Amino acid sequence: MPSFVGSQMRHLGSTFLEKLLRSAGEGVLVLDGNRRITHYNPAACRILGLDEASVIGSTLDELEGTYIREDGTGFPPMQFPAYVALRTGQACHDVTMGLHRPNGGSRVWITVNADILPARRKSATRVFVMFNDITAHIDTKIRLRDVLRAREQLFRDLEQSEARMRSVLQTIPSPVWLKNLEGVYLSCNAEFERFFNATEKHIIGKTDFDLTTPEAAALFQAADQQVIKLGETVRIERWVTYASDQHRAFMSIVKLPVRDSAGTMTGILGIAHDMTEKKQAEDRLNGLMAYKEAIVTNAPIGLAVYAADRHCNEANPAYCEIFGYTEAELIGKTSRILFRDDAGFEEFGRKIWSIVARGGTYTADLPMRRHDGSEIWARTVVHLIDIKRPDLGVIVIVTDITAQKTLELDLQHSNAELQNLTGRLQAMARTDPLTELANRRAFIEAAEIEFLRCKRFKSAASVLLIDIDHFKKVNDTYGHEIGDRGLVALASTLKGIARATDMPARFGGEEFVMLLSGTDGPGAVELAERIRGEVAALSIPSGRDHFGMTVSIGVASFEAADDAWSEALARADAAMYRAKALGRNRVVMADPHRSTSPG
Ligand code: GH3
Ligand code: MG
Ligand code: MG
Repeated sequence: MPSFVGSQMRHLGSTFLEKLLRSAGEGVLVLDGNRRITHYNPAACRILGLDEASVIGSTLDELEGTYIREDGTGFPPMQFPAYVALRTGQACHDVTMGLHRPNGGSRVWITVNADILPARRKSATRVFVMFNDITAHIDTKIRLRDVLRAREQLFRDLEQSEARMRSVLQTIPSPVWLKNLEGVYLSCNAEFERFFNATEKHIIGKTDFDLTTPEAAALFQAADQQVIKLGETVRIERWVTYASDQHRAFMSIVKLPVRDSAGTMTGILGIAHDMTEKKQAEDRLNGLMAYKEAIVTNAPIGLAVYAADRHCNEANPAYCEIFGYTEAELIGKTSRILFRDDAGFEEFGRKIWSIVARGGTYTADLPMRRHDGSEIWARTVVHLIDIKRPDLGVIVIVTDITAQKTLELDLQHSNAELQNLTGRLQAMARTDPLTELANRRAFIEAAEIEFLRCKRFKSAASVLLIDIDHFKKVNDTYGHEIGDRGLVALASTLKGIARATDMPARFGGEEFVMLLSGTDGPGAVELAERIRGEVAALSIPSGRDHFGMTVSIGVASFEAADDAWSEALARADAAMYRAKALGRNRVVMADPHRSTSPG
């Protein structure tokens, strides 16, 4: 089996050299001028994975396996250091080659040195190739290179994502910053620059004590310390002033711990959120609430809030006072306890809801009952708290109007009495008290109206003048009081005969009249005759016996030529005197109107 160890190696020199090469860790090959392997050592076969039997006589490119460079590209045989040395006659040193071993073996890396062995007497030029197995070294190098590449990519990715992150942070309209655990600023966004009116370059490396008032810096530092101590997010809220334009903002500042991949806290991230509008709205609301509370508590009128299911939710002191309950006694109960009965409570519920549900205001004076049972009147105004939120219930405004209502009722009562009295007085003023017939004044009024009606509608009307005959004698015989009975009896007779449209009246003393609406002269005479007859038939008790009376009656009708009703009366009066003159107890129709014009 040819090898360095074999006979051919002896040509090269001493046994010592042979031994040395045989035991060397480096692979050694010798190629002749035709590139054929003429010598090898065991290390060469081991490193290259060669079968010793097939080595001698082969060229390198005939051996199984493919060669590559360090960068993974193919290694053309023309470039093999041994071939280069043969071609150029120059040594070719320190060339790194990779070999994929045959049979799916692993990759081997070698560094190759090829030196020319000059021609000697018998032999032509040869090349002495020596190579080291540097697989471990190259693999490490490649791994290292891959690691470096990966790290570079990672750095590039990180840089990119950091750049993205920064641009996002810059566009956030809230101040954002990062500090280390010593309170030194590491980074910040544009809004934060505005807050301190300084560039990020200026801010980085500074602490709050360099940038703001000692008082504010101490507060921020305390919050940072709390984050460090608790390891948790801390929130503070306070008014701050922008250094850029001095505008004040109410900020909610959130500080949270920043940790490395091992979980160790490395810094504090701060984000401030402008809550000014919310804060101002909140303050306004609080102010309004206090204002409302002050009004409701101190108002001299009763105010209560009732839910849609009619339970009391709120009642002010005045409301409690009006009904004599404590607030605790009212809250949670329906208003049933304030009504005098179920019907009042139910009716109130029905009425208010139909009005307030449409956004209207219900107003009513209601009879109510206090805790002690006493009855009161409550002027009640009910309105929805919010038309859009009927579920919030209604506000009830109550005034105790008991005194006013009592006065009103008293007044109504007095008014009725007064009206009654006035009516009676008015009636009295027009009535004769003895006979209860219309008196002279009432008769004149009626006669004047009747006269006007006759003129306008050309209707008929007549008047009777009735005088008791020798009435003086009655008085003289029986006394004035009994005489009065005669007057009352005559009045009754007149009332009995008078039709609805006739008006009998006492004109004065023992003289009576009767206005006959719609009655002409003959009708009036007929009626007068009836009166005369009935009076003559009277028998009036005098105490001891009875007495009778007769009357003389003058009859006249209203005439077109009359200028006043009294003209007809004057004619009746004249007729009555004629009746007296003719012997009394009789009826005389007056002469018609006599023209006053001469001739
Ligand atoms: P004649 O008319 O028929 O001529 O007789 P006479 O007695 O009725 O006459 P005269 O008119 O003079 O008297 C009227 C009397 O009527 C005088 C008065 O005493 C009486 N008299 C008038 N008013 C009243 C009254 O209110 N009550 C009573 N009892 N008598 C009265
Ligand atoms: Mg008379
Ligand atoms: Mg008389």
